[in-house]
Amino acid sequence: MKADDRNETMMREALRLAREAFDDGETPVGAVVALGDTVVGRGRNRREKERNALAHAEIEAIDEACRRLGGWRLWECDLYVTLEPCPMCAGAAVNARIKSIVFGARDAKNGACGSILDLPAATTHRPAVTGGVLEEECAEILTAFFRDLRERRRTEPSAWTAANGKTEQ
Ligand SMILES: [Zn+2]
Repeated sequence: MKADDRNETMMREALRLAREAFDDGETPVGAVVALGDTVVGRGRNRREKERNALAHAEIEAIDEACRRLGGWRLWECDLYVTLEPCPMCAGAAVNARIKSIVFGARDAKNGACGSILDLPAATTHRPAVTGGVLEEECAEILTAFFRDLRERRRTEPSAWTAANGKTEQ
């Protein structure tokens, strides 16, 4: 597959996982680790269900890829994620020696691949970073999620406060 086609194909798979998260009431972020044209790890946000701050999409995808490939060095693998990785996930990608990070929507509040900081560029490993792949679709699913959330908070405040706390973007 050509690089542009692969970026789009893999991002579509990451978007499918983000939609799964959405349907589960999680902030919709999905991630894929690929070795060439083969997906070797999939992940999606599960923070609410797992009640775990570490349950980000990228961590799950990297974890699966390490298990599957039987090693922690993913230096021939690329990470695709619908939202710009946070500092934790950009750090995990660097630690896994990921070859390149490809993301969809930018995260002005918490993105560590150019927004609030540029973590990959600050490391000796320096994975390549490409942003803006299927950006509109990746951003739209997040916008829709937070629109629904605001609506639910407005119409069912009691149901909301009874739930497991506050969801942050
Ligand atoms: Zn993260």
